[in-house]
Amino acid sequence: MNDRIRENLTAVKQNITNACKKSGREAESVRLVAVSKTRPVEDLQEAYVCGCRDFGENKVQELVEKYEAMPKDIRWHMIGHLQRNKVKYIVDKVYLIHSVDSVRLAEEISKEALKKDVTVSVLVEVNVAGEESKFGTMAEEAVSLVEEIAKLPGICVKGLMTIAPYVENAEENRLYFAKLKQIYVDIIHKNIDNVCMEELSMGMTGDYEVAISEGATYVRVGTGIFGERQYSTV
Ligand SMILES: *Cc1c(COP(=O)(O)O)cnc(C)c1O
Repeated sequence: MNDRIRENLTAVKQNITNACKKSGREAESVRLVAVSKTRPVEDLQEAYVCGCRDFGENKVQELVEKYEAMPKDIRWHMIGHLQRNKVKYIVDKVYLIHSVDSVRLAEEISKEALKKDVTVSVLVEVNVAGEESKFGTMAEEAVSLVEEIAKLPGICVKGLMTIAPYVENAEENRLYFAKLKQIYVDIIHKNIDNVCMEELSMGMTGDYEVAISEGATYVRVGTGIFGERQYSTV
C-alpha cells in the first residue's frame, strides 16, 4: 500500500528520539500528533496501522467524518480555529482542543461539556510572535485568560499551544518556543485552581526538533508524515 507514510513516520519518530536525546529528555515525554487535515481516510488508516493513535484536524466537519470512519481508540486533537456554533459537534469526540483563545469560546465549550456530561481538556493558544494573521491570545493576556477559563466547569486547562511563524530556518523560531515555555512556567508558579499545566503543543514539520529542545510535549506534524497537502480539488 502506502510505504511512504510508513517510512516518513519512522523517520519522524527517529528525529523526535534524537532531539530528545540531545536535550537530555525521555523520548516518551514528547507525543506525536499526526496532522491529517485534508488527507483521505486511507492515509489515516495507514498511519493507524503503523501505530499512530493521535490525529490532528483543523475543521469540525472533517474531524467528525473521520471520527465516524476510524477506530474508536484514536485520540482526536482539534488544532484549528474553532467557531462557537460548532463546539457542540465535537466536545464528546475530542481528546484535546489545542486552540482555545477566548473566554467566549471557553464558555461555549463549558456549556456543551455540561450538557454532555464530559470534561473537556483544552490548551490555550498563544500568538507568541504577535502575527496579525494568526489566531491566539496575545502573550501579555495569556495568564489572565487561563485564570478566567479555569473558573468554568466542565473544562480543564492542560497547557499552552502556539503556531510559530513560517520561516526558512527553524532556529528563527527558537525564541518563540522559549517564550511559550516561559509563560507556561509563570502559570505553574501561580498555582491556579483547576489548571494543570502539563502540555506544551509546539513545533510542526519545519521546526519540531527546535520545539522539542525548548520543551514541547506535543509536536504536530502533517507534511513530514503524509507529504505535501493538495488544497485544490480536481
Ligand atoms: C497544518 C497544521 C500543522 C501541521 O503542519 P505541517 O507543516 O504540515 O507539519 C500543525 N499545526 C497546526 C495548527 C496546523 O494547522
